[in-house]
Amino acid sequence: MPRSPSPRRQHAVVLGAGMAGLLAGLALADHFPRVTIVDSDSLPAGPHSRSGIPQGNHAHGLFVQGLRVLERLLPGISSDLVARGAVPVDIGADYAWGTIHGWGSRFTSGHHVLAASRALFEWAVRQRVTALPPVSLLPRHRAEGLIGTATTVTGVTLRNTDNRRADTLDADFVVDATGRGSRAAHWLAALGHPRPPTTVVDPHLAYATRTYKIPYPPPPWLVCYLMMTAPATRGGIISPLEGGRWIVTLGGIGDDQPTNAEADFLPYARTLHHPALADALATATPLTPVTTTHTSANRRRHMENLTTQPRNFVLLGDAACCFNPIYAQGMTAAVLGADLLHHCLERHHGPDGLAAAYHRRLATLHDTCWLLSTTADSRFPTTEGPALTPTQRILGRYLTHVIRAGTRDPHVQKTFLNVVNMTSRPSALLTPRLVTRVVTARPARQQPGHSWPPPAGAPRGTAPAPARATTADNATTYWSPPQT
Ligand SMILES: Cc1cc2nc3c(=O)[nH]c(=O)nc-3n(C[C@H](O)[C@H](O)[C@H](O)COP(=O)(O)OP(=O)(O)OC[C@H]3O[C@@H](n4cnc5c(N)ncnc54)[C@H](O)[C@@H]3O)c2cc1C
Repeated sequence: MPRSPSPRRQHAVVLGAGMAGLLAGLALADHFPRVTIVDSDSLPAGPHSRSGIPQGNHAHGLFVQGLRVLERLLPGISSDLVARGAVPVDIGADYAWGTIHGWGSRFTSGHHVLAASRALFEWAVRQRVTALPPVSLLPRHRAEGLIGTATTVTGVTLRNTDNRRADTLDADFVVDATGRGSRAAHWLAALGHPRPPTTVVDPHLAYATRTYKIPYPPPPWLVCYLMMTAPATRGGIISPLEGGRWIVTLGGIGDDQPTNAEADFLPYARTLHHPALADALATATPLTPVTTTHTSANRRRHMENLTTQPRNFVLLGDAACCFNPIYAQGMTAAVLGADLLHHCLERHHGPDGLAAAYHRRLATLHDTCWLLSTTADSRFPTTEGPALTPTQRILGRYLTHVIRAGTRDPHVQKTFLNVVNMTSRPSALLTPRLVTRVVTARPARQQPGHSWPPPAGAPRGTAPAPARATTADNATTYWSPPQT
Protein backbone atom coordinates (compact mmCIF):
# COMPACT_ATOMS: atom_id res chain seq x y z
CA MET A 1 0.00 0.00 0.00
CA PRO A 2 1.49 3.40 -0.91
CA ARG A 3 2.34 5.54 2.11
CA SER A 4 0.52 8.83 2.46
CA PRO A 5 2.74 11.90 2.15
CA SER A 6 4.69 13.09 5.19
CA PRO A 7 2.78 15.65 7.21
CA ARG A 8 3.92 19.24 7.09
CA ARG A 9 6.26 20.23 9.88
CA GLN A 10 6.01 24.00 9.79
CA HIS A 11 4.21 25.17 12.89
CA ALA A 12 3.73 23.37 16.21
CA VAL A 13 1.42 24.71 18.91
CA VAL A 14 1.71 23.85 22.60
CA LEU A 15 -1.27 24.61 24.84
CA GLY A 16 -0.04 25.47 28.35
CA ALA A 17 3.27 27.03 29.40
CA GLY A 18 3.79 25.10 32.65
CA MET A 19 6.70 22.68 33.08
CA ALA A 20 5.22 20.16 30.64
CA GLY A 21 4.33 22.76 27.99
CA LEU A 22 7.73 24.45 28.09
CA LEU A 23 9.53 21.12 27.80
CA ALA A 24 7.23 20.11 24.94
CA GLY A 25 8.28 23.37 23.26
CA LEU A 26 11.91 22.38 23.75
CA ALA A 27 11.31 18.96 22.14
CA LEU A 28 9.42 20.49 19.20
CA ALA A 29 12.01 23.22 18.56
CA ASP A 30 14.32 20.57 17.08
CA HIS A 31 11.67 19.49 14.58
CA PHE A 32 9.63 22.57 13.63
CA PRO A 33 10.82 25.98 12.39
CA ARG A 34 8.00 27.65 14.40
CA VAL A 35 6.74 26.66 17.84
CA THR A 36 4.10 28.73 19.65
CA ILE A 37 3.45 28.08 23.33
CA VAL A 38 0.02 29.43 24.33
CA ASP A 39 -1.08 30.10 27.91
CA SER A 40 -4.24 31.61 29.34
CA ASP A 41 -2.21 33.22 32.13
CA SER A 42 0.11 36.24 32.22
CA LEU A 43 3.66 34.92 32.47
CA PRO A 44 5.72 36.93 34.98
CA ALA A 45 9.16 38.24 34.03
CA GLY A 46 10.75 36.72 37.16
CA PRO A 47 10.41 33.57 39.28
CA HIS A 48 7.07 34.55 40.79
CA SER A 49 3.97 32.52 41.50
CA ARG A 50 1.02 33.02 39.14
CA SER A 51 -2.69 32.27 39.16
CA GLY A 52 -2.49 29.62 36.39
CA ILE A 53 -0.29 27.46 38.65
CA PRO A 54 -2.11 27.50 42.01
CA GLN A 55 -0.15 24.41 43.10
CA GLY A 56 3.02 26.52 42.86
CA ASN A 57 2.32 27.85 46.37
CA HIS A 58 2.99 24.38 47.78
CA ALA A 59 6.21 22.38 48.24
CA HIS A 60 7.54 20.97 44.95
CA GLY A 61 10.36 18.44 44.75
CA LEU A 62 12.02 17.35 41.50
CA PHE A 63 13.40 13.81 41.76
CA VAL A 64 17.02 12.88 41.04
CA GLN A 65 16.02 11.31 37.72
CA GLY A 66 13.94 14.33 36.75
CA LEU A 67 16.90 16.63 37.42
CA ARG A 68 19.31 14.37 35.52
CA VAL A 69 17.17 14.26 32.40
CA LEU A 70 16.38 17.99 32.68
CA GLU A 71 20.13 18.65 32.81
CA ARG A 72 20.65 16.51 29.71
CA LEU A 73 17.89 18.39 27.87
CA LEU A 74 19.03 21.82 29.09
CA PRO A 75 22.75 21.56 29.93
CA GLY A 76 23.71 23.92 32.75
CA ILE A 77 20.18 24.30 34.14
CA SER A 78 21.29 22.94 37.55
CA SER A 79 23.95 25.65 37.79
CA ASP A 80 21.39 28.27 36.74
CA LEU A 81 19.09 27.11 39.52
CA VAL A 82 21.85 27.01 42.13
CA ALA A 83 23.00 30.50 41.07
CA ARG A 84 19.42 31.66 41.69
CA GLY A 85 19.40 30.18 45.20
CA ALA A 86 18.23 26.57 44.75
CA VAL A 87 19.71 24.39 47.50
CA PRO A 88 21.49 21.09 46.63
CA VAL A 89 20.30 18.33 48.96
CA ASP A 90 21.87 14.86 49.28
CA ILE A 91 18.84 12.55 49.38
CA GLY A 92 20.49 10.23 51.91
CA ALA A 93 22.51 12.59 54.12
CA ASP A 94 20.68 15.92 54.21
CA TYR A 95 17.12 14.63 54.14
CA ALA A 96 15.59 13.68 57.50
CA TRP A 97 13.13 11.01 56.38
CA GLY A 98 10.65 10.40 59.20
CA THR A 99 8.37 7.37 59.15
CA ILE A 100 5.95 6.00 61.73
CA HIS A 101 8.61 3.33 62.37
CA GLY A 102 11.42 5.83 63.09
CA TRP A 103 13.94 7.80 61.01
CA GLY A 104 14.99 6.35 57.69
CA SER A 105 18.67 5.29 57.81
CA ARG A 106 20.99 8.14 57.01
CA PHE A 107 23.89 7.74 54.55
CA THR A 108 25.78 9.84 52.03
CA SER A 109 24.19 8.90 48.72
CA GLY A 110 26.03 11.17 46.28
CA HIS A 111 22.62 11.75 44.64
CA HIS A 112 21.38 15.31 44.86
CA VAL A 113 18.12 17.06 44.26
CA LEU A 114 17.67 20.81 44.16
CA ALA A 115 15.26 22.39 46.62
CA ALA A 116 13.56 25.45 45.12
CA SER A 117 10.14 26.93 44.49
CA ARG A 118 7.95 25.66 41.66
CA ALA A 119 8.11 29.22 40.30
CA LEU A 120 11.93 29.13 40.10
CA PHE A 121 11.98 25.75 38.33
CA GLU A 122 9.45 26.96 35.77
CA TRP A 123 11.05 30.36 35.26
CA ALA A 124 14.54 28.86 34.73
CA VAL A 125 13.14 26.47 32.11
CA ARG A 126 11.09 29.27 30.49
CA GLN A 127 14.18 31.48 30.16
CA ARG A 128 16.05 28.72 28.33
CA VAL A 129 13.22 27.52 26.10
CA THR A 130 12.01 30.94 24.98
CA ALA A 131 15.59 31.85 23.98
CA LEU A 132 15.41 29.19 21.24
CA PRO A 133 14.84 30.85 17.84
CA PRO A 134 11.79 28.76 16.81
CA VAL A 135 9.92 29.33 20.09
CA SER A 136 7.52 32.16 20.87
CA LEU A 137 5.09 32.62 23.76
CA LEU A 138 1.47 33.68 23.41
CA PRO A 139 0.25 34.54 26.92
CA ARG A 140 -3.30 35.57 27.92
CA HIS A 141 -4.92 33.31 25.31
CA ARG A 142 -7.15 30.46 26.46
CA ALA A 143 -7.37 27.38 24.23
CA GLU A 144 -11.01 26.50 23.63
CA GLY A 145 -10.91 23.71 21.08
CA LEU A 146 -9.30 21.94 18.15
CA ILE A 147 -9.90 22.54 14.45
CA GLY A 148 -9.52 19.62 12.04
CA THR A 149 -10.84 16.35 10.78
CA ALA A 150 -11.11 12.91 12.29
CA THR A 151 -7.51 12.14 11.29
CA THR A 152 -5.68 15.45 11.51
CA VAL A 153 -5.73 18.54 13.68
CA THR A 154 -5.17 21.68 11.61
CA GLY A 155 -5.38 24.34 14.30
CA VAL A 156 -6.73 25.51 17.62
CA THR A 157 -9.39 27.98 18.67
CA LEU A 158 -8.35 30.56 21.24
CA ARG A 159 -9.88 33.37 23.27
CA ASN A 160 -7.92 36.47 24.16
CA THR A 161 -8.38 36.81 27.93
CA ASP A 162 -7.88 40.61 27.80
CA ASN A 163 -10.56 41.57 25.27
CA ARG A 164 -12.54 38.26 25.07
CA ARG A 165 -12.02 38.17 21.29
CA ALA A 166 -12.03 34.74 19.59
CA ASP A 167 -9.00 33.78 17.52
CA THR A 168 -7.55 30.79 15.68
CA LEU A 169 -4.04 29.48 15.15
CA ASP A 170 -3.07 27.09 12.33
CA ALA A 171 -0.99 24.13 13.49
CA ASP A 172 0.69 21.05 12.02
CA PHE A 173 1.15 19.50 15.46
CA VAL A 174 -0.59 20.27 18.77
CA VAL A 175 0.43 19.33 22.32
CA ASP A 176 -2.11 19.65 25.13
CA ALA A 177 -0.16 20.54 28.29
CA THR A 178 -2.97 22.45 30.01
CA GLY A 179 -2.61 20.45 33.22
CA ARG A 180 -5.12 18.66 35.43
CA GLY A 181 -8.07 20.58 34.05
CA SER A 182 -7.39 19.53 30.43
CA ARG A 183 -10.46 19.64 28.15
CA ALA A 184 -8.87 17.25 25.64
CA ALA A 185 -11.65 14.65 25.97
CA HIS A 186 -14.27 17.28 25.15
CA TRP A 187 -12.18 18.67 22.25
CA LEU A 188 -11.68 15.19 20.77
CA ALA A 189 -15.41 14.44 21.04
CA ALA A 190 -16.13 17.66 19.12
CA LEU A 191 -13.96 16.30 16.26
CA GLY A 192 -15.95 13.06 16.26
CA HIS A 193 -13.51 10.93 18.27
CA PRO A 194 -14.37 8.81 21.29
CA ARG A 195 -13.38 10.35 24.61
CA PRO A 196 -10.35 8.69 26.22
CA PRO A 197 -11.37 6.50 29.17
CA THR A 198 -10.35 8.07 32.48
CA THR A 199 -9.32 6.43 35.76
CA VAL A 200 -9.49 8.43 38.99
CA VAL A 201 -8.14 7.42 42.40
CA ASP A 202 -8.85 10.14 44.96
CA PRO A 203 -7.51 9.94 48.53
CA HIS A 204 -9.25 13.23 49.50
CA LEU A 205 -6.08 14.91 50.67
CA ALA A 206 -5.66 18.59 51.56
CA TYR A 207 -2.46 20.62 51.84
CA ALA A 208 -1.82 23.72 53.95
CA THR A 209 1.37 25.66 53.21
CA ARG A 210 3.19 28.74 54.41
CA THR A 211 6.74 30.01 54.08
CA TYR A 212 9.10 30.91 56.93
CA LYS A 213 12.43 32.64 57.37
CA ILE A 214 15.02 29.92 58.16
CA PRO A 215 15.92 30.31 61.85
CA TYR A 216 19.47 30.63 63.14
CA PRO A 217 21.02 28.28 64.05
CA PRO A 218 19.25 26.00 61.56
CA PRO A 219 18.43 22.37 62.40
CA PRO A 220 20.98 19.68 61.37
CA TRP A 221 18.96 18.62 58.32
CA LEU A 222 18.20 20.55 55.14
CA VAL A 223 14.85 18.84 54.51
CA CYS A 224 12.60 17.28 57.14
CA TYR A 225 9.91 15.00 55.74
CA LEU A 226 7.36 13.27 57.95
CA MET A 227 5.95 10.69 55.61
CA MET A 228 2.22 10.14 55.37
CA THR A 229 1.76 6.43 54.84
CA ALA A 230 -1.15 4.44 56.22
CA PRO A 231 -2.02 4.18 59.06
CA ALA A 232 -0.65 7.76 59.46
CA THR A 233 -3.21 10.13 57.93
CA ARG A 234 -1.18 13.31 58.46
CA GLY A 235 2.29 14.30 57.30
CA GLY A 236 4.42 17.30 56.46
CA ILE A 237 7.61 18.64 54.98
CA ILE A 238 10.00 21.52 55.59
CA SER A 239 12.17 22.22 52.56
CA PRO A 240 14.48 25.14 51.79
CA LEU A 241 13.65 27.66 49.06
CA GLU A 242 15.76 30.28 47.35
CA GLY A 243 16.10 33.44 49.43
CA GLY A 244 16.84 31.81 52.81
CA ARG A 245 13.26 30.62 53.21
CA TRP A 246 11.54 27.42 54.19
CA ILE A 247 8.40 26.17 52.53
CA VAL A 248 6.34 24.17 55.00
CA THR A 249 3.55 21.98 53.68
CA LEU A 250 1.27 19.99 55.99
CA GLY A 251 -1.10 17.40 54.58
CA GLY A 252 -3.95 15.26 55.84
CA ILE A 253 -6.76 13.14 54.47
CA GLY A 254 -10.48 12.99 55.19
CA ASP A 255 -11.29 14.38 58.64
CA ASP A 256 -7.58 15.07 59.18
CA GLN A 257 -7.36 17.76 56.50
CA PRO A 258 -5.57 20.95 57.67
CA THR A 259 -7.30 24.34 57.40
CA ASN A 260 -6.06 27.74 56.22
CA ALA A 261 -6.33 29.28 59.72
CA GLU A 262 -2.93 30.65 60.77
CA ALA A 263 -3.68 29.84 64.41
CA ASP A 264 -4.14 26.16 63.49
CA PHE A 265 -0.87 25.72 61.58
CA LEU A 266 1.61 25.05 64.40
CA PRO A 267 -0.89 23.06 66.52
CA TYR A 268 -1.58 20.86 63.48
CA ALA A 269 2.18 20.36 63.00
CA ARG A 270 2.31 19.24 66.65
CA THR A 271 -0.08 16.38 65.85
CA LEU A 272 2.30 14.77 63.32
CA HIS A 273 3.97 11.47 64.17
CA HIS A 274 7.27 13.12 65.20
CA PRO A 275 7.86 16.46 66.99
CA ALA A 276 10.90 17.43 64.84
CA LEU A 277 8.91 19.48 62.33
CA ALA A 278 6.87 21.44 64.88
CA ASP A 279 9.95 21.97 67.06
CA ALA A 280 11.79 23.51 64.10
CA LEU A 281 8.86 25.84 63.35
CA ALA A 282 8.62 27.01 66.94
CA THR A 283 11.63 29.33 66.47
CA ALA A 284 10.99 30.28 62.83
CA THR A 285 9.27 33.46 61.63
CA PRO A 286 6.31 33.04 59.24
CA LEU A 287 6.55 35.14 56.06
CA THR A 288 3.20 34.39 54.42
CA PRO A 289 -0.38 33.46 55.30
CA VAL A 290 -1.50 29.83 54.99
CA THR A 291 -2.59 28.61 51.54
CA THR A 292 -4.63 25.42 51.13
CA THR A 293 -5.45 23.10 48.24
CA HIS A 294 -7.72 20.08 47.93
CA THR A 295 -6.33 19.05 44.53
CA SER A 296 -4.96 15.58 45.11
CA ALA A 297 -6.66 13.02 42.86
CA ASN A 298 -4.62 10.68 40.67
CA ARG A 299 -6.19 10.96 37.20
CA ARG A 300 -5.21 9.15 33.98
CA ARG A 301 -6.59 9.89 30.55
CA HIS A 302 -5.99 6.66 28.62
CA MET A 303 -5.18 7.98 25.14
CA GLU A 304 -3.40 4.66 24.53
CA ASN A 305 -6.78 2.90 24.62
CA LEU A 306 -8.38 4.96 21.84
CA THR A 307 -9.06 3.05 18.65
CA THR A 308 -8.89 6.26 16.62
CA GLN A 309 -7.16 9.53 17.40
CA PRO A 310 -5.76 12.42 15.36
CA ARG A 311 -2.22 11.61 14.26
CA ASN A 312 -0.81 14.98 15.29
CA PHE A 313 -2.38 15.73 18.68
CA VAL A 314 -0.76 14.52 21.92
CA LEU A 315 -1.11 15.01 25.67
CA LEU A 316 1.81 15.66 28.02
CA GLY A 317 2.23 16.22 31.76
CA ASP A 318 -0.75 16.45 34.09
CA ALA A 319 -3.10 16.63 31.09
CA ALA A 320 -2.17 13.00 30.36
CA CYS A 321 -1.70 11.72 33.90
CA CYS A 322 -1.52 13.44 37.26
CA PHE A 323 -0.69 11.98 40.64
CA ASN A 324 -1.40 12.59 44.30
CA PRO A 325 1.15 15.37 44.98
CA ILE A 326 2.49 13.81 48.18
CA TYR A 327 4.49 11.43 45.98
CA ALA A 328 6.08 14.38 44.09
CA GLN A 329 6.09 12.60 40.73
CA GLY A 330 4.46 15.18 38.43
CA MET A 331 7.41 17.32 37.33
CA THR A 332 9.67 14.30 36.82
CA ALA A 333 6.93 12.56 34.79
CA ALA A 334 6.64 15.73 32.67
CA VAL A 335 10.42 15.83 32.05
CA LEU A 336 10.52 12.14 31.07
CA GLY A 337 7.40 12.54 28.90
CA ALA A 338 8.97 15.48 27.02
CA ASP A 339 12.11 13.41 26.46
CA LEU A 340 9.91 10.64 25.06
CA LEU A 341 8.13 13.12 22.76
CA HIS A 342 11.49 14.27 21.42
CA HIS A 343 12.46 10.67 20.77
CA CYS A 344 9.17 9.88 18.99
CA LEU A 345 9.43 12.99 16.80
CA GLU A 346 12.90 11.87 15.77
CA ARG A 347 11.90 8.30 14.97
CA HIS A 348 8.47 8.81 13.38
CA HIS A 349 9.06 10.72 10.18
CA GLY A 350 5.99 9.20 8.53
CA PRO A 351 2.51 10.62 8.95
CA ASP A 352 0.87 7.66 10.62
CA GLY A 353 1.02 6.50 14.13
CA LEU A 354 3.18 9.13 15.84
CA ALA A 355 0.49 10.12 18.34
CA ALA A 356 -0.62 6.54 18.93
CA ALA A 357 2.97 5.28 19.37
CA TYR A 358 3.82 8.16 21.70
CA HIS A 359 0.71 7.63 23.83
CA ARG A 360 1.42 3.89 24.13
CA ARG A 361 4.94 4.57 25.39
CA LEU A 362 3.82 7.38 27.64
CA ALA A 363 1.35 4.97 29.24
CA THR A 364 4.20 2.54 29.96
CA LEU A 365 6.19 5.37 31.51
CA HIS A 366 3.23 6.35 33.69
CA ASP A 367 2.42 2.76 34.70
CA THR A 368 5.10 2.59 37.39
CA CYS A 369 4.36 6.00 38.93
CA TRP A 370 0.66 5.16 38.86
CA LEU A 371 1.18 1.76 40.48
CA LEU A 372 3.25 3.23 43.32
CA SER A 373 1.01 6.22 44.05
CA THR A 374 -2.36 4.49 43.77
CA THR A 375 -1.16 1.46 45.73
CA ALA A 376 -0.01 3.69 48.58
CA ASP A 377 -3.23 5.73 48.38
CA SER A 378 -5.45 2.67 48.41
CA ARG A 379 -4.30 1.97 51.96
CA PHE A 380 -6.02 5.15 53.19
CA PRO A 381 -9.61 4.63 54.35
CA THR A 382 -10.84 7.73 52.47
CA THR A 383 -9.59 6.70 49.03
CA GLU A 384 -12.15 6.33 46.25
CA GLY A 385 -11.28 4.48 43.05
CA PRO A 386 -11.21 1.08 41.37
CA ALA A 387 -10.72 -1.99 43.58
CA LEU A 388 -7.14 -3.04 44.29
CA THR A 389 -5.55 -5.65 42.05
CA PRO A 390 -3.91 -8.64 43.81
CA THR A 391 -0.50 -7.22 42.78
CA GLN A 392 -1.32 -3.91 44.49
CA ARG A 393 -2.48 -5.70 47.63
CA ILE A 394 0.82 -7.57 47.95
CA LEU A 395 2.91 -4.55 46.89
CA GLY A 396 1.19 -2.30 49.43
CA ARG A 397 1.94 -4.66 52.30
CA TYR A 398 5.51 -5.25 51.12
CA LEU A 399 6.22 -1.51 50.82
CA THR A 400 5.26 -1.09 54.47
CA HIS A 401 7.94 -3.66 55.35
CA VAL A 402 10.47 -1.91 53.08
CA ILE A 403 9.86 1.43 54.78
CA ARG A 404 10.19 -0.17 58.21
CA ALA A 405 13.37 -2.05 57.23
CA GLY A 406 14.80 1.20 55.84
CA THR A 407 14.89 2.61 59.37
CA ARG A 408 17.33 -0.17 60.33
CA ASP A 409 19.24 -1.00 57.17
CA PRO A 410 20.91 1.74 55.06
CA HIS A 411 21.08 -0.59 52.06
CA VAL A 412 17.31 -1.06 52.06
CA GLN A 413 16.78 2.68 52.56
CA LYS A 414 19.15 3.47 49.70
CA THR A 415 17.36 1.08 47.34
CA PHE A 416 13.98 2.47 48.39
CA LEU A 417 15.12 6.09 47.84
CA ASN A 418 16.55 5.17 44.43
CA VAL A 419 13.16 3.74 43.43
CA VAL A 420 11.33 6.78 44.79
CA ASN A 421 13.72 9.05 42.87
CA MET A 422 13.22 6.95 39.71
CA THR A 423 16.92 6.13 39.33
CA SER A 424 16.12 2.44 39.89
CA ARG A 425 13.18 0.42 38.72
CA PRO A 426 10.77 -0.91 41.38
CA SER A 427 12.08 -4.42 40.59
CA ALA A 428 15.21 -3.38 42.54
CA LEU A 429 13.07 -3.85 45.67
CA LEU A 430 12.27 -7.43 44.67
CA THR A 431 15.71 -9.00 44.26
CA PRO A 432 16.19 -12.06 46.53
CA ARG A 433 18.94 -10.23 48.43
CA LEU A 434 16.80 -7.19 49.11
CA VAL A 435 13.72 -9.22 50.04
CA THR A 436 15.84 -11.19 52.53
CA ARG A 437 17.10 -7.97 54.10
CA VAL A 438 13.57 -6.59 54.30
CA VAL A 439 12.04 -9.64 55.97
CA THR A 440 14.95 -10.18 58.38
CA ALA A 441 15.34 -6.53 59.43
CA ARG A 442 15.05 -6.23 63.19
CA PRO A 443 11.98 -4.32 64.34
CA ALA A 444 12.63 -0.61 64.77
CA ARG A 445 13.51 0.40 68.32
CA GLN A 446 13.21 4.12 67.69
CA GLN A 447 10.54 5.95 69.61
CA PRO A 448 9.00 9.34 68.92
CA GLY A 449 11.47 11.94 70.12
CA HIS A 450 14.46 9.89 68.96
CA SER A 451 16.94 12.33 67.45
CA TRP A 452 17.91 12.25 63.81
CA PRO A 453 20.67 9.66 63.38
CA PRO A 454 24.16 10.45 62.05
CA PRO A 455 25.07 9.00 58.63
CA ALA A 456 25.70 5.25 58.62
CA GLY A 457 29.28 4.50 59.65
CA ALA A 458 29.85 7.96 61.15
CA PRO A 459 30.13 8.58 64.89
CA ARG A 460 27.02 10.05 66.51
CA GLY A 461 26.97 13.82 66.54
CA THR A 462 28.64 14.11 63.13
CA ALA A 463 27.50 17.25 61.36
CA PRO A 464 25.59 16.69 58.12
CA ALA A 465 27.67 16.77 54.96
CA PRO A 466 27.80 20.28 53.49
CA ALA A 467 25.58 20.88 50.48
CA ARG A 468 27.47 20.39 47.25
CA ALA A 469 26.86 21.79 43.80
CA THR A 470 25.07 19.25 41.65
CA THR A 471 26.64 17.85 38.54
CA ALA A 472 23.72 15.93 37.14
CA ASP A 473 24.85 12.98 35.06
CA ASN A 474 23.45 11.39 31.98
CA ALA A 475 22.40 8.03 33.37
CA THR A 476 18.78 7.22 32.63
CA THR A 477 18.38 4.00 34.54
CA TYR A 478 14.68 4.36 35.12
CA TRP A 479 13.63 5.31 31.64
CA SER A 480 15.64 4.89 28.51
CA PRO A 481 14.26 5.64 25.04
CA PRO A 482 12.35 2.61 23.77
CA GLN A 483 13.63 0.95 20.62
CA THR A 484 11.45 1.35 17.56
C1 LIG B 1 -0.54 20.76 45.57
C2 LIG B 1 0.39 20.17 44.56
C3 LIG B 1 1.70 19.88 44.91
C4 LIG B 1 2.56 19.30 43.97
N1 LIG B 1 3.82 18.94 44.36
C5 LIG B 1 4.64 18.37 43.45
C6 LIG B 1 5.96 18.00 43.81
O1 LIG B 1 6.39 18.10 44.96
N2 LIG B 1 6.76 17.47 42.83
C7 LIG B 1 6.32 17.30 41.55
O2 LIG B 1 7.08 16.82 40.71
N3 LIG B 1 5.07 17.63 41.19
C8 LIG B 1 4.23 18.16 42.10
N4 LIG B 1 2.97 18.51 41.72
C9 LIG B 1 2.57 18.31 40.32
C10 LIG B 1 3.20 19.38 39.42
O3 LIG B 1 2.76 20.67 39.77
C11 LIG B 1 2.85 19.11 37.95
O4 LIG B 1 2.82 17.74 37.71
C12 LIG B 1 3.90 19.69 37.04
O5 LIG B 1 4.07 21.04 37.32
C13 LIG B 1 3.55 19.52 35.55
O6 LIG B 1 2.39 20.20 35.32
P1 LIG B 1 1.89 20.61 33.86
O7 LIG B 1 2.86 21.49 33.20
O8 LIG B 1 1.44 19.39 33.16
O9 LIG B 1 0.57 21.43 34.25
P2 LIG B 1 0.48 22.81 35.02
O10 LIG B 1 1.70 23.06 35.81
O11 LIG B 1 -0.82 22.81 35.74
O12 LIG B 1 0.46 23.88 33.84
C14 LIG B 1 -0.67 24.03 33.01
C15 LIG B 1 -0.54 25.36 32.28
O13 LIG B 1 -1.60 25.44 31.33
C16 LIG B 1 -2.23 26.70 31.41
N5 LIG B 1 -3.61 26.49 30.96
C17 LIG B 1 -4.60 25.82 31.59
N6 LIG B 1 -5.70 25.77 30.80
C18 LIG B 1 -5.39 26.43 29.65
C19 LIG B 1 -6.09 26.70 28.45
N7 LIG B 1 -7.36 26.28 28.25
N8 LIG B 1 -5.47 27.39 27.47
C20 LIG B 1 -4.19 27.83 27.63
N9 LIG B 1 -3.47 27.59 28.76
C21 LIG B 1 -4.06 26.89 29.74
C22 LIG B 1 -2.08 27.13 32.87
O14 LIG B 1 -2.13 28.54 33.00
C23 LIG B 1 -0.68 26.57 33.18
O15 LIG B 1 0.32 27.50 32.85
C24 LIG B 1 2.09 19.04 42.65
C25 LIG B 1 0.78 19.34 42.30
C26 LIG B 1 -0.08 19.87 43.25
C27 LIG B 1 -1.51 20.13 42.86
